[in-house]
Amino acid sequence: MEINLAISAGFCFGVRRAINIALKTAKTNKPVFMLGDIVHNEEVVKQIQKSGIKKIYRFSCGDGKILLIRAHGCSKNTLQKAKKLGYTITDATCPMVKEIHAIARELENNGFKIIVIGDKSHDEVKGITGQLRTKAIVIDKLENIPLKKIKSIRQAGIVVQSTQNLDKAQEILDILRNNIQKVKFHNTICKPTRMKQNEIKIMPLENDVMVIIGSKTSANTKRIYEISKSLNRRSYWINSSNEISKNWLDKAKSVGITAGASTPESTIQAVTQKIKDLASRKQ
Ligand code: SF4
Repeated sequence: MEINLAISAGFCFGVRRAINIALKTAKTNKPVFMLGDIVHNEEVVKQIQKSGIKKIYRFSCGDGKILLIRAHGCSKNTLQKAKKLGYTITDATCPMVKEIHAIARELENNGFKIIVIGDKSHDEVKGITGQLRTKAIVIDKLENIPLKKIKSIRQAGIVVQSTQNLDKAQEILDILRNNIQKVKFHNTICKPTRMKQNEIKIMPLENDVMVIIGSKTSANTKRIYEISKSLNRRSYWINSSNEISKNWLDKAKSVGITAGASTPESTIQAVTQKIKDLASRKQ
């Protein structure tokens, strides 16, 4: 059986960078805190906890403490509040997310109403809208476009959450363009996400079975799985090698494997090995 691992499987540049910064920061003598999990993956979260970094939900006195900003970034308010309370900031925000912040701020300064195509509840989106003086409009899907509000906008500056599905964002953009006089659009879906999406449009068609690895809490893994499933019904989403069922491989000549941006290399290797073992037993 042929086993094809996606080139883009696993950690993206931003997540790898944030984890490295976190582990390095944990070695300093000061206590390190983080608002929420570093990424949406249980294994990585465990590794970070083991390093001594503590997850918090709200600030206390920050004297002598380090606050680590995650790859998703955060709002200006959060940052100011933390500094005011005395925290020393270590910023692991992905440079590509920072670029979205800068674009949104510039568009706002030039008089554009900001629209973010993305998931309202996602921390990255909260971080983007939290850069602005005015309230941005966030649109997650076609059905939720606030048409009445949109029609009253004279000029809109549109950015996209870095991990959004390009085709779905394009559909939303088309409607916005048809209803707003002047639109300035920046495709801010990041390069690693685009690469993952390009691969997942081809791999399910070229393989009998697709295995997608990532936590059930990972939005980008969910998107990859949805695209895969729409192209190949023998697509399976797992978080670890223990979840693989040998029946999935029945009569399969090839298996494609990919993984979300927060899935560690060790999990990808364990899954690949388990599939190899099952395949060799079937021969
Ligand atoms: S998905 Fe893209 S923007 Fe988000 S952390 Fe990874 S590289 Fe950065």
